[in-house]
Amino acid sequence: MAEAPDPAALAAVRAHLDAARRVCVLTGAGMSAESGIPTFRDALTGLWSRFDPAQLASEEGFRADPARVWDWYAERRVGVRQAQPHAGHVALAAFGHRRPGVLTLVTQNVDDLHQRAGWPQTIRLHGDILADRWLRPCPRGRACDPARAAAGRPPRCAECGNFVRPGVVWFGEMLPAAALEAADRCAMACDVMLVVGTSGAVWPAAGLASTARRAGAQVAIVNPHESEIDDEAHWVLRGTAAGVLPALLDTLG
Ligand code: NAD
Repeated sequence: MAEAPDPAALAAVRAHLDAARRVCVLTGAGMSAESGIPTFRDALTGLWSRFDPAQLASEEGFRADPARVWDWYAERRVGVRQAQPHAGHVALAAFGHRRPGVLTLVTQNVDDLHQRAGWPQTIRLHGDILADRWLRPCPRGRACDPARAAAGRPPRCAECGNFVRPGVVWFGEMLPAAALEAADRCAMACDVMLVVGTSGAVWPAAGLASTARRAGAQVAIVNPHESEIDDEAHWVLRGTAAGVLPALLDTLG
């Protein structure tokens, strides 16, 4: 798939990571690819290729055909539950544990692979695919539990008909403010930013590398292919997450 990363670049990034007091890691869908979870683009070439992202990942698309969107997410949930963290997820969490206070991990992924690899404090910019929430606030002002909704595709409130929806951020929606602020703070304060497996096409996450670079951080990208933010990087390591992250991190005590 990818050529091996340049050994000199690998050594340079490793040296900066070794010296860093704060490391910010931003991951995207490519981080989970080797665990068997398709990236956004791959997902759209598969079973669901007849739908576009606006239909599958927007409130408008959900309202237009709730069952179709619910079923698509149900299928993705099965894939996430079956997937296992790979050596790259494990290397990141182990590095974080070996160097307390150094690592902040920010992900655009809606799976839970970083958490299951041992880094539960991962900042999630785009939500959690395994979580349910109501489509709109309860009209009666109650704190109703989506887990108690009447079964269906999607489940609905038996009293008011409110739909349950997956707890992800859809196109056109705001990112969770606390997560975005934490990610911005980490980009501003880090000595090294490592960007793994993102196309750099989805904002505002795509802007974090530029924020870090302007604040003085060294920026490195891990991706087997070109991304839209390669120009922000001091180093581009052409390789996969499961290959490059252990090579970068496992020898750092
Ligand atoms: P993207 O699909 O736009 O880009 C994926 C990137 O990963 C590409 O640049 C690709 O070259 C790279 N890549 C592929 N295989 C890789 C590997 N083995 N190692 C490292 N990199 C690899 O994904 P994105 O930039 O994260 O943006 C899409 C949005 O879709 C995300 O914000 C996310 O919320 C959502 N999404 C999440 C998941 C998930 O949670 N696992 C999966 C698909 C999409």
